[in-house]
Amino acid sequence: VISISGLKKSFGENEVLKDINFSVNKGDVTCIIGSSGSGKSTMLRCINLLEEPTGGEIIYNGQNILETKNIPAYRAKVEMVFQSFNLFENMTVLKNCMIGQMKVLKASKEVAKKEAMYYLEKVGMAPYINAKPRQLSGGQKQRVAIARALAMKPDVILFDEPTSALDPQMVGEVLEVIKNIAKEGLTMIIVTHEMAFARDVANHIVFMNDGVICEEGTPQEIFTNPKCPETKAFLTRFM
Ligand code: ATP
Ligand code: MG
Repeated sequence: VISISGLKKSFGENEVLKDINFSVNKGDVTCIIGSSGSGKSTMLRCINLLEEPTGGEIIYNGQNILETKNIPAYRAKVEMVFQSFNLFENMTVLKNCMIGQMKVLKASKEVAKKEAMYYLEKVGMAPYINAKPRQLSGGQKQRVAIARALAMKPDVILFDEPTSALDPQMVGEVLEVIKNIAKEGLTMIIVTHEMAFARDVANHIVFMNDGVICEEGTPQEIFTNPKCPETKAFLTRFM
């Protein structure tokens, strides 16, 4: 579904992504791991067109996304879930999950509500439809953000450290929700520092270091038999 080649991104003199190449197939759960500052978020933001690459290509279903005219429509297909949730604070939980469907997908209010309810149910947030985000815990907010993304019926969901802003006791509930949607075959790219989760949920692990992909492979290959010295060093620190 997504194929990245020769991707580069610099901020001024700082070359953050240096020739990134990898592909994601339909149904893949890809976890991106690597040290802080290695460029993981920048890469995900390039895929979501939140950053403009300085070089290379990102091909989504045969189309170069850098030529995308309708960015909201593209983002409905390749949805992003953020570390900091990014919910609309002035809207109820239900409205948060309806608004994108109505604005971007041109769904009717009835359909949008039905879909929103379906996905809120799925993430265990149906009892909170009338709450405002500020009344929710971090874990609950993230589950709403996931329902909102799912309600757009995306092809791919990108997650940027979906649990790193959460108190430890809320991490599990969010990881559980992500695991459940992974089982349904949705294509996902997940940046995470949760190694046990990555090992469990992913079929494809990408290890980034200093703006390049050092190594990629199955969880078995990366976690039990890493080849690159940087991967070994990283995993020793993390596990
Ligand atoms: P973490 O695990 O801490 O989230 P990361 O792998 O996601 O790290 P990035 O956030 O992609 O790393 O950052 C990589 C580098 O790019 C860092 O040196 C950062 O300072 C720089 N950077 C990221 N965004 C910007 C920006 N908007 N302007 C300037 N520099 C940036
Ligand atoms: Mg990051």
